[in-house]
Amino acid sequence: MHNMKKIVTEEGKTISIQMNRNLYGKNEELAKKNWATFNRHHIHAVDILGSIGSGKTSTIQQLVFNLKERYRIAAIAGDLTTTIDADRIREKGANVLQVNTDGGCHLDANIIQNTLKVLDLDSLDLVFIENVGNLICPASFPLGAHQRLVVVSVTEGPYMIVKHPHIFQGASVLAINKIDLAKAMDVDPEQLKADARRIQPNIHVVSTNARTGEGIPELIDALKLK
Ligand code: MG
Ligand code: ZN
Repeated sequence: MHNMKKIVTEEGKTISIQMNRNLYGKNEELAKKNWATFNRHHIHAVDILGSIGSGKTSTIQQLVFNLKERYRIAAIAGDLTTTIDADRIREKGANVLQVNTDGGCHLDANIIQNTLKVLDLDSLDLVFIENVGNLICPASFPLGAHQRLVVVSVTEGPYMIVKHPHIFQGASVLAINKIDLAKAMDVDPEQLKADARRIQPNIHVVSTNARTGEGIPELIDALKLK
């Protein structure tokens, strides 16, 4: 977590110091402004979180491909240094803004506010925000989106959800991706689902294979994008 700094003292005792309380408050404030901006322009915004390799980009590609006739879509792709994700999404027919965080490990509301300034918001209905690939700190930085979709792949093992409770508390939809590999990985998707529901009882859970498109209609339903 960004707010706790651990300091090991000379005597070998560890003390924790709370820091940047203000930074969270400020982010919260800007997130509310972003939310209002989206609403003013009748835009539905989805924040998409997941580890590197979980399939966030492939999932967005599928969503764009399936929804582009119905909605005018833009994607904001957060990445430390590359444009790989942005290029992949653009190729499916969305307007894509690449945000390089220059090593920063999460997007924050300030970044999104600045990004929204360069998008033509009146020409959009739907915005997908691909967060930076980690499941720790993005949980603490709401962006002002209406929904949080978490993409977890079965290749991340059976304990990935119980080990990251914070990210699931704020999530409305969970996609269990690479579902075709569940048997080979000896991971039980029903167990992952139960783990997520224990943390967030209202979460909608769908199984997907973003490579083939399996489960994408169900995901669109879960996101209420019909
Ligand atoms: Mg990606
Ligand atoms: Zn971070």
